[in-house]
Amino acid sequence: MSDRAGPCDGLIEEARQIIGAAKSITVFSGAGISTDSGIPDFRGPNGVWTKNPEAEKVSTLSHYLNDPEIRQIAWRNRLASPAWAAVPNDGHRAIFALEQRGVLVAVITQNIDGLHQHVGHLPENVLEMHGTMRFSICWSCGDRRGMQATLQRVREGDSDPACELCGGILKSDTISFGQALVPEVVERAMAASEDCDVLLAVGSSLTVRPAANVVPRAKAMGAKVVIVNGEPTAMDHYSDVVLVGELSELLPRIVG
Ligand code: NAD
Repeated sequence: MSDRAGPCDGLIEEARQIIGAAKSITVFSGAGISTDSGIPDFRGPNGVWTKNPEAEKVSTLSHYLNDPEIRQIAWRNRLASPAWAAVPNDGHRAIFALEQRGVLVAVITQNIDGLHQHVGHLPENVLEMHGTMRFSICWSCGDRRGMQATLQRVREGDSDPACELCGGILKSDTISFGQALVPEVVERAMAASEDCDVLLAVGSSLTVRPAANVVPRAKAMGAKVVIVNGEPTAMDHYSDVVLVGELSELLPRIVG
């Protein structure tokens, strides 16, 4: 991603002062924070869907439940996911520094990769709006197990493993398109967006709703909004400062 020109020092300083003066900061993160850990995003210039629009079907609930071939593709993708070997980068670490400093309200994330928890956050401070890829869940009985145990069955030749308890369809414990979000997580995310001096949105195109609604919600409640992303977002008009550039370079500079 080094082809991007960074923002000017004045803007970086403005963002640094807003964050430095805040007593309570809520972070909203998207797939862009994990690309420097080797996990591609969906809609960025090198995104999975940008390169192959058909790939979106795998993340759509009706296709997944009704088409065994889509499920087989999904299981192969999960097995090959770069997320299993990924480790947090400087962007994740900069956000963790806010928790260590005692000013973090919560990290509301669209990510399913678990890297915010991996860097050391208290688990209750990370609100995974789109679930987690680290567990599989049965669509019929709700049996939830560590994903690695289910992937082991795929490795051993079961191309579309069924629930061992009831025979139902298994999927990752993530929110697919067409699937409802978990109300308790949404409530906590909305509360965190109302309860902050600053909402820092990072690595998201801010096009996926309702998750991205935390940005206008925070703004409406009087928070300052700082957006850091590799390209303009759908919600730049809500922001006090927009920084366009590399997250793993910019976040340490504005949080430090
Ligand atoms: P998105 O793909 O819509 O947007 C990601 C944004 O990050 C893009 O605008 C891109 O320009 C920017 N970006 C990418 N790398 C960057 C970098 N190094 N520095 C600065 N900016 C960078 O992502 P989204 O808005 O989070 O929505 C995608 C959906 O896909 C989410 O619902 C999420 O659940 C899922 N997803 C998650 C992961 C993950 O867990 N890591 C990965 C891919 C997709």
